Amino acid sequence: MTKYAPAIRSTCPYCGVGCGVIAARNEEGDIEVKGDRDHPANFGRLCSKGSALAETLGPDDRLLAPLVHGKKASWSTALDLVAKKFTEAIDEYGPESVAFYVSGQCLTEDYYVANKLMKGLIGSANIDTNSRLCMASSVAGHRRAFGTDTVPGTYDDLELADLVILVGSNLAWCHPVLFQRLAAAREKRGTKVVLIDPRETASVEIADMHLALAPGSDVALFSGLLSHLAAVGRIDLNYVEQYTSGFDAALAAAIPTADAAKLTGIDAQTLSRFYELFTSNPRVVTVYSQGVNQSSAGTDKVNAIINCHLATGRIGHPGMGPFSITGQPNAMGGREVGGLANMLAAHMDLDNGGHRDIVAKFWGVPRVVKRPGLKAVDLFQAAGDGRIKALWIMATNPVDSLPEADGVRAALKACPFVVVSDVIRHTDTTACAHVLLPSAAWGEKDGTVTNSERVISRQRAFMPAPGMARPDWWQIVQVARRMGYSEAFPFESPAEIFAEHAALSAASNDGTRDFDIGAHAAIDAQAYDELAPFQWPQPEGRSPGISRFFANGGFFTPDRRGRFIPTSWRAPASATSAEFPLVLNTGRIRDQWHTMTRTARSARLMGHSPEPFGEIHPFDAAAAGVRDGDLTTISSASGTVIVRAMVTGRQQRGSVFVPMHWTDRYSSKGRIDALVAANTDPVSGQPELKFSAVSIAPFQAAWQGFAVSVARPALGGLDYWALATAKAGYRLDLAGLKEPDDWTSFACGLLAIGEDGELLSYRDAHAGQYRFAVFDGEQLAAALFVARTPIAVSRSWVTEQLGQFISDPAARLRLLAGRACAGAGSKDRGAIVCACFEVGVNDIVAAVKAGGCTTVDAVGAAVRAGTNCGSCRAEISRIIDDSGSAAPGLVRPLAS
Ligand code: SF4
Repeated sequence: MTKYAPAIRSTCPYCGVGCGVIAARNEEGDIEVKGDRDHPANFGRLCSKGSALAETLGPDDRLLAPLVHGKKASWSTALDLVAKKFTEAIDEYGPESVAFYVSGQCLTEDYYVANKLMKGLIGSANIDTNSRLCMASSVAGHRRAFGTDTVPGTYDDLELADLVILVGSNLAWCHPVLFQRLAAAREKRGTKVVLIDPRETASVEIADMHLALAPGSDVALFSGLLSHLAAVGRIDLNYVEQYTSGFDAALAAAIPTADAAKLTGIDAQTLSRFYELFTSNPRVVTVYSQGVNQSSAGTDKVNAIINCHLATGRIGHPGMGPFSITGQPNAMGGREVGGLANMLAAHMDLDNGGHRDIVAKFWGVPRVVKRPGLKAVDLFQAAGDGRIKALWIMATNPVDSLPEADGVRAALKACPFVVVSDVIRHTDTTACAHVLLPSAAWGEKDGTVTNSERVISRQRAFMPAPGMARPDWWQIVQVARRMGYSEAFPFESPAEIFAEHAALSAASNDGTRDFDIGAHAAIDAQAYDELAPFQWPQPEGRSPGISRFFANGGFFTPDRRGRFIPTSWRAPASATSAEFPLVLNTGRIRDQWHTMTRTARSARLMGHSPEPFGEIHPFDAAAAGVRDGDLTTISSASGTVIVRAMVTGRQQRGSVFVPMHWTDRYSSKGRIDALVAANTDPVSGQPELKFSAVSIAPFQAAWQGFAVSVARPALGGLDYWALATAKAGYRLDLAGLKEPDDWTSFACGLLAIGEDGELLSYRDAHAGQYRFAVFDGEQLAAALFVARTPIAVSRSWVTEQLGQFISDPAARLRLLAGRACAGAGSKDRGAIVCACFEVGVNDIVAAVKAGGCTTVDAVGAAVRAGTNCGSCRAEISRIIDDSGSAAPGLVRPLAS
């Protein structure tokens, strides 16, 4: 392995913070991944997901060869077929009959060639990306206000601000390293933090104020703030006069503060305290994320926020500005190359003739496409109704992540030709493909990504790709050549693609466009190899450095003025009803990423929330007859899921939160996007993933169970199951509507117990309790616990026993009881709270009760929890608060 040793700098493949990592092999030959102290995003820190990267590199379920109609094929056979089918569709039905659906997981070089092929050569703009689901409203809001998609500030601004407002952003769990930077700055200099979110999320840990606004009412809140700023004479008239346009119209459309209180549901006194905080703190950064973007009024929300910053001139100065944080590692890189269906490469506009000419001339094509392509939701509807004849999906799982997800699955089944490039063999989307192309994964490929503060960093290979897997850019180039476009696709390496991308950014630019990395236009292979993180813009001749935009105007509109956009509140597109009285909000949890294809491989990460759940307010739960810990159905007009109820006052009454991550691979019915209505923002096309009308009801299970097994359990026929990786195999929650006739046969079938296994059992048919343990020699191979109510076993303790050698008969009986006991030689840690050090809730409760720890730091000193990435500090704080009343094992992790 000397080729990949000793240590390679790369970038974390998860969120938009874009942390630098260093991967190296240890003396045992295993890969270790650590934070890079020299990277400007994280200075060595990593969150729980980043810290577990090395655990996700295994070969399980990798796609190792091209598959054509399920059969292994050579690369040339598969690529020939893809090129032929796309060419035939274009010849017969025109360029708009084909489409690419790409991903914020793609590297910039992958994105660049895909975009060039579609918009420059094929002659359609039908290339869109899963970033449409993440930040399209921010892009649209930026372009309306600034004339281009510019993030004006830097991460330093969060540390330099006196007031940081988190709007629709659970920074603590979704961008944990940035949250830790903010928390450290707050500790040092007393930064005030306001959390604006319908839910009390983990980010409340550092908040001085939490505004639990009504779902979807953000425009009213910030429109009311604009009115307030004008009413108290705090408009920066010089800035407005010199550098902006449209202020009067925006102010005329602004909502009076009294109306803002009514629409947001925030009492007038609290609202006025927030407005006063904004007014009296010039150094203010407003951080916004999916809670703002994923809305049918997402673009207006973004502009309502930007209006307040423009009105006060608080933009582009240290510690000031609106700040969109992207969800994905390379959403920004995708935006830079024009990966959205309504944008052109290098931040140029499809609807700008001058820009189209620049790109066409640069690419050496007669013209580039003028008409915007289909945005994500429309694109899959077009696949379903027969308009799209050939579709290529890269590095994403739309059958789980798009709204009305069952309809997306049906659309793919209806589409005549579907190609999927992926790392994983079995996903809900690969199941719909005619051709599967094996892609190189993180750690096996080279390229660049751009994080939320415009820093471009290298991802580098530190291990060889397995089997026949190849990078996405290579696949696209090969298909392009087979379609007759060899001249435009001469690339043999990502370095060559990056150089062209950099050169295009500088073409006829001269400061007229924000995105310019012309300093790298002549980059060669060695310089690309050594490329250090740098922030754009970096035009030719400029040294790398930190930059901000718009402190002194210089917007990219025709008159170079920033534009105020009149915004008025409108209700979300869905409405609750007697049948569906609750609002469904979807989002991320701390230790999972997207559809879990990577993070679910880590037992440590799965230990935090191994089952899909729904956060429900106690009032709504009681009204529906749902108790904490019950299995619960959540239904909308388009589908039903089954999740575990988490009844909590942290949830707003009338709302339900369910994580976005679970798929058919990990639960029987956890695909929450099947319930989400396909309503979109009229400007950005971003779906409203935060507001769908749903109902809840108890899932009438006749029995419930918990199992562990070294082998993957046989899940067919179960009414409910949720599967998670464990260190020695799998853990499984399960339930049924009817008891099986013979529990022993059921257990043997579920746990694949052969004749060699030794079966130990306990039965109480009257009470409906059954317990089975299977030993392979002395080693625990599987166990199953069944009861008529939610099963009361120590799940984490039982999971830890899997694969252990247990010969003592008394210890085997203790195992059947499902609980550790004093002197048993191992303890019950409870659900994992600190994934970094695998500290469970019971360890923390013990540190509080027996150890007298009353602060998060004291708990950290006692049991290490919360002392690495810090993502669990809010939960530890809550456990300390709850420990007076809650029994060990009953305090469950906080959902986000
Ligand atoms: Fe990766 Fe965590 Fe950093 Fe995001 S915050 S880039 S998930 S290590």
